[in-house]
This record gives sequence, structure tokens and C-alpha cells, in this order.
Amino acid sequence: MRIPLIAGNWKMFKTKADASAFAEEFKSLYKDTDVQAAICAPFTDLDVLVEAFRGTGIGVGAQNVHFADEGAYTGEISVAMLEEIGVDFCIVGHSERRQYFAETDETVNLKLKKLLAGTIRPIMCVGESLEQRDAGALFDVVRTQLTDGLAGIPAEDVRRVVIAYEPIWAIGTGRTATPEQAEEMCAFIRQVLIELYDEDTADEMILQYGGSVKPANATEIMNMDEIDGALVGGASLKPADLMAIIDF
Ligand code: PGA
Repeated sequence: MRIPLIAGNWKMFKTKADASAFAEEFKSLYKDTDVQAAICAPFTDLDVLVEAFRGTGIGVGAQNVHFADEGAYTGEISVAMLEEIGVDFCIVGHSERRQYFAETDETVNLKLKKLLAGTIRPIMCVGESLEQRDAGALFDVVRTQLTDGLAGIPAEDVRRVVIAYEPIWAIGTGRTATPEQAEEMCAFIRQVLIELYDEDTADEMILQYGGSVKPANATEIMNMDEIDGALVGGASLKPADLMAIIDF
């Protein structure tokens, strides 16, 4: 049984005061569903959210981490720092980080390994650009991201990795992939996981769709067989919208 995971991704939005106000409103709206809910927030908001959500079952995630234990890496944050705060999840390899901050499949791989050595569950993002889709390269692109990103990670660890399929052309554009397009790629991802690991492992893994998920389209996306959750950007900034998606 896969427990669906719907996670907000706040990106670079919300100060600590904003996060605190959001948490109070969200807790007042929150009701327990069959879905694991989480919010991935800027580093500076994480302790506020962990405190606010203690005992509620709502998870908290970071949006990035460094792969070294510690060292001279100005501006970076380590896994131990996140674990001390009590973070549950960490996004790795979001397309915005690949595009603007030189994240590669190799750094994604190092970050996944470092997270998996500890307690935080990684949410690994994969997905193609519009040019790659139009050129028919979408499956090759995602296969490479999975193969290189997961290289050397054994089956018993990979089960804890959440894979988020986020077609770049659908992020923040209002242009959602159709449920069929999202399902087609998630089915492909599960097939690649069977090839890389085995059927049991692939069966257990949570696959999310991300890209312009809103209350209005959450139901049809979540009803797809191979889609076990959503990574929600813009709509996660409003408590009522995020709750509506969780309660799809
Ligand atoms: P969006 O972002 O929901 O605003 O399209 C999704 C994401 O980037 O994770």
C-alpha cells in the first residue's frame, strides 16, 4: 500500500512571520486524510514549521541540501543541520536548481546518498523541457535522470526516495500536463525502476506529479493509477488551496 504524499513547495516565498501565519491558518483547516501532507519551505522557515506542526502529522521539508558532511561551502546547509531541526523531507534536483544553480545528475546522486544515510526522505525531481518533449526525447531524458541520479543506491534505500515527475513546461505556467501525459510518464518511471531494481521495490515507491497542480485539477491527477501524490508550487502558498488539494 502506497500512502500518497502531497507536498507544497514554497520556493523562495514567505518570511518566518508569513510561515507562522500560514501554519496557524493551515492547522485550523487541516483534517486528517489518507494522504501524507508536507510543506517544503525556505531554510529560514523550517524551525517555525516544525514547531507549529508538531503532533499534527503534517510533514516539513527543505528544498535543497549540500552533500558534504561539513566544510568550506559558503551559503550551503548540511544534512545534519536539517536533521537537527527535525525535517522529514528534502527536495533534490528541482528543475529550477538544475537550471539556475548548476545542479546535475551527479550532484543529485551525491545528495540522495547523503540524505539516505540519515533520516530525511528525499523527493527527487525529474522531468523534460518543452524542446525535449517536442523532439520526442522525453523518455530518454527522464531515463538518464533516473539512472544517473540513482546510481549506486541499493534497493533497500531507494524505497525511501519519492520521485516527482515535473515537466518543466508545466511548472508555474498554468499549463498542466494532462492526467494522461502525467500517468504515461509515471508508468514509464515505474518501469525504469523495475529495470534498475525489481518489481517489489518499484511497487512500493511514491511517484508524484508536479506542475500547475490546483484544487480544480487535483482529483483527476490523483485518481491516476501510477500517480501517488503531487508536488505543488504556487497553489501551496494559500492554506485553503493546499488543503483542498490534499482533500481532493
Ligand atoms: P507549480 O510548481 O505548482 O507552481 O507549477 C511546481 C513545482 O515547481 O514544484
